[in-house]
Amino acid sequence: MNFEYAAAPESRSVVKIDPVYGHFINGKWVNGSAHFNTINPATEEVLSSISLGSAADVDAAVKAARNAFDKSWSKLSGRERGKYLFRIARIMQERAREFAVLETLDNGKPIRESRDVDVPLSAAHFFYHAGWADKLEFAGVDTTTAPHGVVGQIIPWNFPLLMLAWKVAPALATGNTVVLKPAETTSLTALLFAQVCQQAGLPDGVVNIVTGDGSTGSAIVNHPGIDKIAFTGSTEVGKLIARAVAPTNKSLTLELGGKGANIVFGDAAIDETVEGIVNGIFFNQGHVCCAGSRLILQESVADEVLEKLKRRMDKIRVGDPLDKNTDLGAINSAEQLAKIRELTAAGEAEGAGRWSANCALPTNGFWFAPTIFTGVTQAHRIAREEIFGPVLSVLTFRTPAEAIEKANNTPFGLSAGIWSEKGSNILWATQQLRAGVIWANTFNKFDPASPFGGYKESGWGREGGRHGLSAYLKGSAK
Ligand code: NDP
Repeated sequence: MNFEYAAAPESRSVVKIDPVYGHFINGKWVNGSAHFNTINPATEEVLSSISLGSAADVDAAVKAARNAFDKSWSKLSGRERGKYLFRIARIMQERAREFAVLETLDNGKPIRESRDVDVPLSAAHFFYHAGWADKLEFAGVDTTTAPHGVVGQIIPWNFPLLMLAWKVAPALATGNTVVLKPAETTSLTALLFAQVCQQAGLPDGVVNIVTGDGSTGSAIVNHPGIDKIAFTGSTEVGKLIARAVAPTNKSLTLELGGKGANIVFGDAAIDETVEGIVNGIFFNQGHVCCAGSRLILQESVADEVLEKLKRRMDKIRVGDPLDKNTDLGAINSAEQLAKIRELTAAGEAEGAGRWSANCALPTNGFWFAPTIFTGVTQAHRIAREEIFGPVLSVLTFRTPAEAIEKANNTPFGLSAGIWSEKGSNILWATQQLRAGVIWANTFNKFDPASPFGGYKESGWGREGGRHGLSAYLKGSAK
């Protein structure tokens, strides 16, 4: 049975959204010459007008970052840098509710997730890296080498604040200055972060935020004054960036797409596994690069798992992202919704069986019901391509070797999950899987101390942990 819940909306009065935003360059707000709207994907309401960064804006930001690197940031001791990072982390905690509501309004994710995952983890990344800033010689990285200098950082729309934290915190801890571009559809929390930098008294030019679209990102990638590029986003754009950077001296880290396999062995604890499957694919509307988007079930338990999974999916609450009861929010943009629709239509056309949860979808905004496809074969597009939505492709296997064969049969290699009661099974499978992150009897768990990254077309380098620090120092890693 489904309980009726009274709506429990979070108040949006805690956030103040300006009608127009400029770029944050050299510690000041600089209005752009062109603008675009950012909307709430749950209602299509226009939230604000955002500056579209030109090559001249990027140039000004790179010059500011270079000046700050030469004159102030590179001269500070690790201890002093750490103080600023601690201050930023504490202010993020103090303003956590504001960040959470703003993220939910601009991105469409449920307030429960922005409040309990995105914002606390973002602050945790700053705390973690603040701690390393004066202890780099103990981090196992080559501290005889220097920071790169000016780092260009380009991030996607699925975890706007968290991806900013993943990028900015290690760069600053190791002594770099940054020019960051948030995604076109989700600039607002990056702009609030700029206010936090001002509040923390961070020296001008250490963090510069230039908003815009792909052309702004491209201007950052191709700017000769940039020493390193750190990118998170699609494999397609990652390849373009790798080509652009190849003939230069720039360093590069890429965190790209995935098609994570979530493998369920016959001896798994089924009820816990079903919760893990739901968390693996429906967390953040499935807009997760490491989502468990391919469920690989042992035949002996496939019927039972699918029956329980469908029953559980019918209880997922889809709707107003600001309602604290909501499990699944809005799809981030009309473009992303169109992409999900195109791939799910291909799944049906290619012969997979489609089943969607029985839920009413709001009429305004961008929505997609939690969906699974059964009878999926490895040749189907929905088994090979990243859907980046609340859609799960289900395959089955008889022997463990077949499970591994199917799990690894992808151009990606970002994440995987294993569900089994036997430690030996888990250890064996982890050694066979070609994935950067492997969870056992859980899924989508993140920690700043744990390195994250992929094999094959899922990217180059690691973010987070000690491995992530070395990517921001010359000579070590990429
Ligand atoms: P993109 O890779 O296009 O965007 C990621 C970032 O790169 C954004 O800030 C984007 O700007 C910027 N960008 C776009 N083109 C260029 C370029 N030529 N040079 C430099 N920067 C550029 O991802 P999308 O947002 O378009 O999503 C498309 C697909 O990518 C999704 O459906 C999903 O499959 C995958 N994806 C994977 C993510 C991951 O974490 N691995 C995250 C997001 C998406 P802007 O958005 O403003 O145009």
